[in-house]
Amino acid sequence: MTTVSNLGFPRIGAKRELKRALEAHWRGETTPQQLHDTARALRERHWRLQYAAGADLVPCNDFSLYDQVLDTAFALDAIPERYRALADADPLAGYFALARGLQREGIDVHALEMTKWFDTNYHYLVPELHAQQTFRLRGDKAVGEFLEAKALGVKARPVLLGPVSFLLLSKTVDGSDRLALLARLLPVYAEWLGRLREAGADWVQIDEPCLVQDLDEDDRAAYRTAYDALAAAARPKLLLATYFGALEDNLAFAAALPADGLHVDLVRAPAQLDAVLDALPPRHVLSLGLVDGRNVWRTDLDRALALAQRAHARIGGERLQLAPSCSLLHVPIDATLETALPADLRGWLGFARQKLEELRTLADALNGLGSARSTLEQARERYATRASSPKVHRAEVAARLAALADVPTRRGSPYPQRRLAQARRFGLPPFPTTTIGSFPQTQQVREARAGHRAGKLSDADYEAFLEAETARCVRFQEEIGLDVLVHGEFERNDMVEYFGEQLDGFAFTRNGWVQSYGSRCVKPPILYGDVQRPAPMTVRWSRYAQSLTERPMKGMLTGPVTVLQWSFVRDDQPRETTCRQVALALRDEVLDLEAAGIGVIQIDEPALREGLPLRRAHWRAYLEWAVECFRIAAAGVADHTQVHTHMCYSEFNDIIEAVAAMDADVISIETSRSRMELLEAFVRFRYPNGIGPGVYDIHSPRVPEQAEMSALLEKAGAVLAPEQLWVNPDCGLKTRGWPETRRALTAMVSAAQALRAT
Ligand code: GLN
Ligand code: ZN
Repeated sequence: MTTVSNLGFPRIGAKRELKRALEAHWRGETTPQQLHDTARALRERHWRLQYAAGADLVPCNDFSLYDQVLDTAFALDAIPERYRALADADPLAGYFALARGLQREGIDVHALEMTKWFDTNYHYLVPELHAQQTFRLRGDKAVGEFLEAKALGVKARPVLLGPVSFLLLSKTVDGSDRLALLARLLPVYAEWLGRLREAGADWVQIDEPCLVQDLDEDDRAAYRTAYDALAAAARPKLLLATYFGALEDNLAFAAALPADGLHVDLVRAPAQLDAVLDALPPRHVLSLGLVDGRNVWRTDLDRALALAQRAHARIGGERLQLAPSCSLLHVPIDATLETALPADLRGWLGFARQKLEELRTLADALNGLGSARSTLEQARERYATRASSPKVHRAEVAARLAALADVPTRRGSPYPQRRLAQARRFGLPPFPTTTIGSFPQTQQVREARAGHRAGKLSDADYEAFLEAETARCVRFQEEIGLDVLVHGEFERNDMVEYFGEQLDGFAFTRNGWVQSYGSRCVKPPILYGDVQRPAPMTVRWSRYAQSLTERPMKGMLTGPVTVLQWSFVRDDQPRETTCRQVALALRDEVLDLEAAGIGVIQIDEPALREGLPLRRAHWRAYLEWAVECFRIAAAGVADHTQVHTHMCYSEFNDIIEAVAAMDADVISIETSRSRMELLEAFVRFRYPNGIGPGVYDIHSPRVPEQAEMSALLEKAGAVLAPEQLWVNPDCGLKTRGWPETRRALTAMVSAAQALRAT
C-alpha cells in the first residue's frame, strides 16, 4: 500500500494564533505555561487536521515557537556565550533572546543574524559557532513532541535538521571551518536519534536540503562521514529528505548514503525521477514530493499520478510514499476559508489542507480504490476551467507579449549622453541628496487607511488626509534642503500589494498568511492571471506632489521582479513570462509618469537578488530575464528622464554586471550597516552610472551624526568617482518616526554640503 506522509505543517495557525500568543507573551501578558498551552493546542489541532485530510503519517518536531534552525542549535547547545547564563537560568527567555535580542536590567544582547531559508521568503536564524564549539543535548523538544503525539494516538515521524545542513547553514564567528565541527557533532546526533528510538519512533525524517545545492568535495566527504557514523548508531530508520530542487550531480552519492529512505522534490524537478529510481538502493523507501509545498495552486493530478505510477511500476507500493515537495510551512492552511474570493479562483487554490487531500486521492488511485476516480475527474474539470478561464488568459496581453520583440529595451542614448541631458534639465549640485521613497507611516496614517478600508472614512476625506500628509512631507524636504524629493508613499500599505490591487491578474486572500520569521507573517498577493493595467496607478499622487514644488519630484514604482518575487505566482506558465507581463504594465506607468511631467522615476527592485536560483548554473538565465524585465519597464523614456532603482542589500559582488546591465541612471543601495564593505564590488568592477551608497541605517532607531555619514561618504569616494556619487539613506523611512527622521536627514544634507565645499 502506498501511503501519504507529510514533511511539515504551518505552525502559525489559520488565524495566526501562535503569533498572537507569542506577542502577548513577549509583552509580558502571559506566562510561559499559557504560551506552551496554546502551542500544544495548535499541534494537536494540526495533527488531527492532517489526518482528517488523508495523511497516513504526520510530522512532529516540525513545530517551532520561532524557527526550526534555532530549535536545532538550541537542542544541540550551540548557544553563544552572550546568551548562556540566561538560557541556563530561564531556557524560554534564553531561546527568545537568541531570536530577538534582549535589552533589560543591565542585559544587552543582540539577536542571531537572520537570513533567507534557501530561495523562500522564510527567514531562519543563523547559528553562531566557533572552533572550540562543543555540543550536547539540551531540553527534550523532539522527544517531547513525539510523546505528546503518541499520547494523542497520533503516530508521528519526528523531523530533524540533518547534521551537515545544520553546519552548512551556520556560520563560524572566528573564521574557522564549520565542517571541522562534524566529528564533535555526530555523537550528539547519534544520542538524539537513540532517544527518539527509545521513545518509540521507528522513522525519523532527517532534512538535508543542502543536497540540492552546489557542493564541493569537502561537503560531500562531510555527508559520507556523517551518515556512515549515524548508520552505526542504534537509531530509528532515516528518511533523508531533499527539497527545493534536483539532486543532479549529488544524486548518486546522496542515494548511496546509508539511510533507509530518500525524499525527492518532483515539483521543482520532475525530470529527476528516472535517475532517482535507477540510483535508489534496493530496500530504500522512496518519498515522492508530488504537490507543491511552495505555492498555492491545486495540482495537475494526472501529471502527478503519472509520475507516481512510474515509480510504482518500478518499486511497488510498499516502499512508496507520497508527500508534498517540501514542508507545507510555506503555504497557508485552508483555501476553503477564502469565501470572499470568486468561487472559480478559490477552486483553483490548494493550501496545506487541500494539498494533503490531493495526495490522498493520488495514493487511493495508486492503491486501486475506485472512489479516487470521481475525485480525479472533479479535479480534472476544475483544472480545465482554470486553463480556459478568460480571467486567466487575456487575448490583449498575449498579443502584447507576442509583439515584445518590437519594444525597445535600450534607452535612446548611452549613459554619458543621458547624463548630460539630465544635468541640463535638473541642474543638480554635485553629491545630490535624495531619499528612497517612503516617509514615516505614523499611527495616524495607518489609522486613516484602516478607517477608509472599513468605510468609516469617506473617499474624499481620505484623499484630503493623504494630500495634507504629502504636502507636509514635500515642505519638510524643501525645508531641510533635499535636492530630489519624493511624495512619501502615505497612500501605500505595502509596496507590492499597492500595485497588485490596481492591476488585473492579482487577488488577495483574507487568511492566506505564511510565516516570514518568528511571529511575523506575510500575506502574499496571488498572481493568478494575465497582468494588465486598466488605469494609471501612481500618476495622481506624483503629479500632485510635483505641483507643490519646483524641485524634481521622484515617481515611485515597484519593479517587475520584486512584484513577482513577493507574490504567489501562477504556475501554468514560466515565471519569466509572468514577469514580462508585469514589466509591460509598469512600462505604461513609467510613460504616463513621464508624460505627466515627472522627470525622475525610481523603480525599486529590492528582491532582485533573492530571486537567484539555488544552483549557480541557473543564475545566468535568471539574471538575463530579470534584467530584461527591468529594462522593459524602464527603457521607454527620453534621455532627459532620469531612471533610478533601489536595492536593499549589500551582497553585490556576484551580480554587479547584471546590475550594471539594468542601466538605471542612478542606483541606491544598502551599505551603512556593512560600513561600505560592499564597495569592494566596485573596486573590481567599474560601475559606470550614478550610485547612492546608503549612509544612514534606517533599520535602527539610532540617529547617525553628520561626521559618521561624512566618513562613509569619504570611504565611498575612495572607490567611486565624485560625479557618480549620490547621498541618500539605506532604504525607505516608513518604519521611522518624524523627529529622528528630521535629525538624521538634516545631518545627511549637511554631510553632502560639507563634501561640496571641499
Ligand atoms: N520605495 C520603497 C520605500 O521607500 C522601497 C522599499 C524597499 O526597498 N523595500 O519604502
Ligand atoms: Zn530598501
